[in-house]
Amino acid sequence: MTTAVATTPRSLLDLTFAELEREFVAAGFSPLHARALWRALHHGLRGDFSDPADFLPPLRRWVTEHVGVGRRFFIEAPIESADIASADGLTRKFLLRLADGQTIETVVMGFKGRHTACLSTQAGCAMGCVFCATGQMGFVRHLRPGEIVAQVRHAQLALRAAEGGLRNLVLMGMGEPLHNYDAVMAALEIISDRRGLNIGPSRITISTVGVVPGILRLAAEQRPFHLAVSLHGATEEERSALVPVSQRWPLAELMAACRTYFTQTGRRIFFEWTLIAGANDSPSQAGRLAALLTGLAAHVNLIPLNPTGGFAGTATPTASAKAFQQVLQTAGIPSTIRQRRGIDVAAGCGQLRADKTRTGGWAEMR
Ligand code: SAH
Ligand code: SF4
Repeated sequence: MTTAVATTPRSLLDLTFAELEREFVAAGFSPLHARALWRALHHGLRGDFSDPADFLPPLRRWVTEHVGVGRRFFIEAPIESADIASADGLTRKFLLRLADGQTIETVVMGFKGRHTACLSTQAGCAMGCVFCATGQMGFVRHLRPGEIVAQVRHAQLALRAAEGGLRNLVLMGMGEPLHNYDAVMAALEIISDRRGLNIGPSRITISTVGVVPGILRLAAEQRPFHLAVSLHGATEEERSALVPVSQRWPLAELMAACRTYFTQTGRRIFFEWTLIAGANDSPSQAGRLAALLTGLAAHVNLIPLNPTGGFAGTATPTASAKAFQQVLQTAGIPSTIRQRRGIDVAAGCGQLRADKTRTGGWAEMR
């Protein structure tokens, strides 16, 4: 019997393990088959099950009845439109085409034999940070959980031959993760499931521009991921000039939310600060940042500005970045100046922008 459905088919990768089990039970199958299917989806060598030879007959029957054109489910398989490596070979950027034709970017960075994938959570972004290419392109749509999970699968499969596998995930690609809260949390539950991709919460960092309700929800729900908050300015006026959503969630409110988060979870918070020459890189601004972070367990990541088409600013020179860092250090606040990576292929922080018109960086193929 074939299960024809009038509803829009769902991606199997959108489902958590518990949801997949429920699907089997609802269709009169043993939930035990869910585990074999889950392994094939999240752990298999191909990421699909075009060759389900080792499936038991009932599972093969479930697949025949439920997966495919006109059925309840489909298999998420973004098409790789481009795979570009930086000249130093340490950064790779994948342009992925989703089922509806939207394109997103996923970046894989190698660090001493281990790899970190930088995932997108939206096509475009609604937050409009002036120095960010994704913000410059505007919002297109939220990604579904399966579209986030598929990026991890894609990175893992691409790294199969590489030395050292995929270790860490940062949600610092296209989009604002806390603007797409439910889908991101479902994706992270799927990704961290021990029976599948098994990338634990301590290896996952969520980066937010400062969506206050999302930060408070992470705290209330005791979500075990690392949190990074993008600040870029230590006064309301300076921050709003770079990050327009500061008008919606003002700096004072954001810092209050960070304090609540810290009180409720005891977790250290990472703060990101894009260093822009002459805009937010003076020693006095470093002093104001240090004052803002007093009483929190904080680590500051200083990111020299990466170039984007829509913003004329330039990166802070190394000597000034070090002077900025020195002020923080004197105030007892640890920080790291991020290495610039993948700039030659526009795979650096804030450079992701999946359109066809831009020149340089990646070139769309196929
Ligand atoms: N939306 C989230 C996560 C994606 S952006 C956020 O804003 O935190 C990831 C990081 O890249 C953020 O800290 C962001 O401020 C930074 N970034 C954006 N554009 C940049 C640029 N041109 N150069 C350097 N860092 C940039
Ligand atoms: Fe969106 Fe983050 Fe870029 Fe701001 S920096 S526009 S929040 S992706």
